[in-house]
Amino acid sequence: MTGRSTPRGAYTGRPCRGCRTPIPSRLYLCGDCWDQLPPVARRALNRRDDQATARLRQLYDHVDSGRPLAELEITA
Ligand SMILES: [Zn+2]
Repeated sequence: MTGRSTPRGAYTGRPCRGCRTPIPSRLYLCGDCWDQLPPVARRALNRRDDQATARLRQLYDHVDSGRPLAELEITA
């Protein structure tokens, strides 16, 4: 038990991968984390094509590895 009683569904979305702030599910990260990404990485992540999932995986791998968001490189 964590002591939290917030029912499922009370969330507006899922937690931000970087800082756990609840965010709308259409966003990859909260605004604060997003602002830390290099502009070129943000532009790549905003592109929605058949490589979008691969780019999202690179973003999340980077976040999970604990490296600074400003060092993200999107190669897909
Ligand atoms: Zn965040």
